[in-house]
Amino acid sequence: MSSGKPQYEVVVVGSGFAGLCTAVKLRAAGIDNFIVLEKDQEAGGTWWANSYPGCAVDVPSHLYSFSFAQNARWTHAFARQGELLAYTRAIVHQFDLQRHLRVATAFEGAAFVEQGGYWDIETSAGPLTAKCIIGATGALNRPAIPDLPGLATFGGKVFHSSRWDHGYDLRGKRVAVVGTGASAIQFVPEIVDQVAQLDLYQRSAPWILPRPDRRIGAREQHLLARLPALHWIYRAMVYLQHEARAPLYVYFPGLFGIAQRLALRHLHCQISDPVLRAKLTPDYTMGCKRVLLMNSYYPALSKVNVELVTDPIARVTAGAIVTASGQERPVDAIIFGTGFNVEHALHTARVRGRGGKVLFQDDLQAYKGCAVAGFPNYFLITGPNTGLGHNSMIYMIESGVRYAVDAVQTIRSRALHSVEVKEEAQRSFNDALQRRMRGTVWSTGCKSWYLDQAGRNYTLWPGFTFTYRRLTRRFDIENYRVNAGA
Ligand SMILES: Cc1cc2nc3c(=O)[nH]c(=O)nc-3n(C[C@H](O)[C@H](O)[C@H](O)COP(=O)(O)OP(=O)(O)OC[C@H]3O[C@@H](n4cnc5c(N)ncnc54)[C@H](O)[C@@H]3O)c2cc1C
Repeated sequence: MSSGKPQYEVVVVGSGFAGLCTAVKLRAAGIDNFIVLEKDQEAGGTWWANSYPGCAVDVPSHLYSFSFAQNARWTHAFARQGELLAYTRAIVHQFDLQRHLRVATAFEGAAFVEQGGYWDIETSAGPLTAKCIIGATGALNRPAIPDLPGLATFGGKVFHSSRWDHGYDLRGKRVAVVGTGASAIQFVPEIVDQVAQLDLYQRSAPWILPRPDRRIGAREQHLLARLPALHWIYRAMVYLQHEARAPLYVYFPGLFGIAQRLALRHLHCQISDPVLRAKLTPDYTMGCKRVLLMNSYYPALSKVNVELVTDPIARVTAGAIVTASGQERPVDAIIFGTGFNVEHALHTARVRGRGGKVLFQDDLQAYKGCAVAGFPNYFLITGPNTGLGHNSMIYMIESGVRYAVDAVQTIRSRALHSVEVKEEAQRSFNDALQRRMRGTVWSTGCKSWYLDQAGRNYTLWPGFTFTYRRLTRRFDIENYRVNAGA
């Protein structure tokens, strides 16, 4: 255990949009003694890790970007991964963040030093100490790979969509894609013409609406760059258009019927085979799982070299996938488009708070998604119940960052030993939140990654994003136990 003054005022964990935003706002608040730990080789988070063909955002880029660093130069309404990664690189450069970044350095655990009021931190590059920790580790970066019997014996190529192997030549190969979620529907149309055969294993058909994508020409880019007010208005319109969907998710799931009809029309227009169409028709209320936007997915499935397999996978052999009905389907490669282990992401490292309590060991509750009782001077960005089905995560990230940075500033300006959210504040916040959750579309009975094993939703924010913004606009120290120190 270290003694004396901690080395850093803040250690930020993660360098995706949340970690970068935190770094920018710490600097803006005059806090310079901090570092950002990143386990991967470069900053960028989601947009560094996911380089699969066709990877793109599904919230318009003019909104899916920081309010303080708007980009008039997006070339598509829905930016592709390369452009988003370039944007995060530009943020690092513009705000001089490189000197704070410690890439290829994983946060491995931390213990709160109660006497000193700081954290002892373990990293893959050695120990360090910090007055505060801001966890910005995201929820979608631990690949979820189903535990298929025999997978270890498979002799071909295996990878997950977020670890795309660009060195593997798919041309002429028999490929199995497992999963039909947000990533798979983006990369399937991109690889379908390269492969000899594509078997697409579907457990549940997603609801898919057309993606209103378009190229943004030089003239429009120039106009938005020249007229920042116009850019703001455009961004606000996109925000309001998305925010208007919140009531459907939270209060009136029945109204999804209208959108369902649109999605079914999209399906009917693009798939003429009634058998395939039936397989692609979802059997749950729209919105219960993420609503997907794509124009080229259904046409890809109509190609002669594609088969949509709804028979569950029973096991994998050295060269094939065997389905529950006993059919053996030979393949050269298996690509998992099976999403992420959300629960696991929050346990990325052992964090021991006051009295040795382990973070999220018993449940996944937090206060405003930002603080947890028993964990002084520890803040989270996009912690439990801050995910969205209807709008841009960047808005939630900026809200959480404002709160966490205000907390750090408060600790600094009042020279506090520590602050820790009161258990009763956390409990009443979560009781109210879970009560609101009952009437939402996510509670209409589908099985999704939004829910934990017990069917509880610790993932999503059941409300308007501006309500979350209001809740996090300032650090509400009255709901914290304050230790002023000696
Ligand atoms: C393919 C894909 C498409 C998406 N599309 C959209 C979209 O259209 N709209 C939308 O709103 N959201 C979308 N999302 C959600 C997206 O994750 C968020 O919008 C946002 O990028 C999250 O940023 P973040 O910084 O919180 O998390 P991340 O981007 O996941 O960054 C977290 C970082 O923390 C690092 N990290 C984790 N654990 C450790 C550790 N122990 N030590 C050190 N570093 C660690 C990770 O390596 C990662 O770099 C998408 C996600 C994916 C995967």
